[in-house]
Amino acid sequence: MAQAAPADQQEPLPLDPRTAPVPRYGQASLSDLLPAIATAQGLKGPETALSLQPADRACVFLVDGMGWEALRAHPEEAPFLTSLLPSSLNGTGTALTAGFPSTTATSLASVGTGLPPGRHGLPGYTALDPDTGRLMNQLRWQPWTDPFAWQPYPTVFQLAHAAGIEASQVSAPHFENTPLTRVALSGGTFHGVLSAEDRMDVAAAQLAAADRALVYTYYAELDGHGHRYGMDSDAWRGQLMYVDRLAQRLAEQLPPRSALYITADHGMVDVPSTPEARFDVDEDWELNAGVAQLGGEGRMRHLYAVPGAARDVHYVWQEVLAGHAWVATRDEAIELGWFGPQVDDRVRARIGDVVAAMSGDAAVVATEREPKESALIGMHGSATPAEQFVPLLEVRT
Ligand SMILES: [Zn+2]
Repeated sequence: MAQAAPADQQEPLPLDPRTAPVPRYGQASLSDLLPAIATAQGLKGPETALSLQPADRACVFLVDGMGWEALRAHPEEAPFLTSLLPSSLNGTGTALTAGFPSTTATSLASVGTGLPPGRHGLPGYTALDPDTGRLMNQLRWQPWTDPFAWQPYPTVFQLAHAAGIEASQVSAPHFENTPLTRVALSGGTFHGVLSAEDRMDVAAAQLAAADRALVYTYYAELDGHGHRYGMDSDAWRGQLMYVDRLAQRLAEQLPPRSALYITADHGMVDVPSTPEARFDVDEDWELNAGVAQLGGEGRMRHLYAVPGAARDVHYVWQEVLAGHAWVATRDEAIELGWFGPQVDDRVRARIGDVVAAMSGDAAVVATEREPKESALIGMHGSATPAEQFVPLLEVRT
């Protein structure tokens, strides 16, 4: 046991999970975007308080990893996107919250289904499949499970398509027919297009091809560069410049009566490479004790305890991560609304017995189990503004 610290070096107290920011589900979160667009197109989809101007043709351009705070901090790299921010003359942009956790699989499912994570049921980067007792990667869908049992709700694209709106997705060819695409982003026609510039052109053509259209397009590599090099890198800044040109290219080709919405799935935090900022579960017997499965990712952990150990895991993680994380039991996290106002029964056991969301810039890595992920510089998943807030920028014709 650690000795009592001297009075002038008090250990930080555990953070109260009730002080963690909660995503603005139902008001201004990613799960509100397509329902608001669909409503503006005269369609009845999932309910939302988010209101958007009517447009016959709507396009969502989702940039992986482009946080609201990071975008605002880089006006020189992103002059076009910056012109759409509320701080500029004609900018009408606003911020949405990504949802919890702030990770790609969860957010893409929130966008496509128009439902918060507690309902669509993709609760993180990895999560427990209660039927097998194994961790499942929600992005790669490994190990395999029936996609439509895992996420049974229709997508807004499917609802729109059934109502006569020409729905389509324009993304990299290898995303066609992946389980994540099928449960989150299918409905209408998928166009696999390799080059990002061509994707913008095809998205614009899809908009022009119908009187009423709902088009989704996606760019991945800003996130990839942030993970590998950090956001404070020329590589990341170069990617942001490229994204800015892509967005402008698409905006300049919009047909009449269109609305283009530029958004993102989450932001990012650069995690320092110091041992103090990288708690390593594989090196720390205290953090590892009683944990049967370590889910989530560095910034947000689902902890599935061995039977009878959940209370001890909760206590130890609160103490060890004091000052660095909001640590909640599953019931607390659900009660506080982290995963949305409602958590479906089939989803509950996919959430950790204990949920640990990082509050500062530290991460909980696992250098043996997850060597690649543990070496990343940029990370995301938690509830901080840098990760949660994403832009909702609008161009209308
Ligand atoms: Zn990422």
